[in-house]
Parts: sequence; structure tokens; C-alpha cells
Amino acid sequence: MAEEKMPHPGHDRHLCYLTNLGFMLESPEEYKKLVKNSKYMCANCGRAANKAENLCKPIEL
Ligand SMILES: [Zn+2]
Ligand SMILES: [Zn+2]
Repeated sequence: MAEEKMPHPGHDRHLCYLTNLGFMLESPEEYKKLVKNSKYMCANCGRAANKAENLCKPIEL
């Protein structure tokens, strides 16, 4: 398994990263859970998520 360098801790759980891996296609149900009732938006890429911990630069909506 190739080990990718993460720009910051927890990035492997950030939607910014996961969507690049095709997460929303592979696990649409999980993805829906993460973005459902979004309260935060990523200031980097504009993705929305329910939890701040799933974004690189969460800003409250
Ligand atoms: Zn982002
Ligand atoms: Zn990140």
C-alpha cells in the first residue's frame, strides 16, 4: 500500500481528500451521512459537511 503524505493530521478523514478518492461513488451511503444537514463548509474547496472534523478548513454555515 502506497503511503501518501498528508498535509495535516486527520486529512484521511476529510471529505476534501475522500471525494478525490471516489469515496462518494464507493460509499454513497457513508458519504450522505457525512454531508447530511451540513453545518460546516470547507474554506479550501467549498465542500460541505455535517462535522467540522471532516473538513480541512471548516467554517460554520
Ligand atoms: Zn476542503
Ligand atoms: Zn484535510
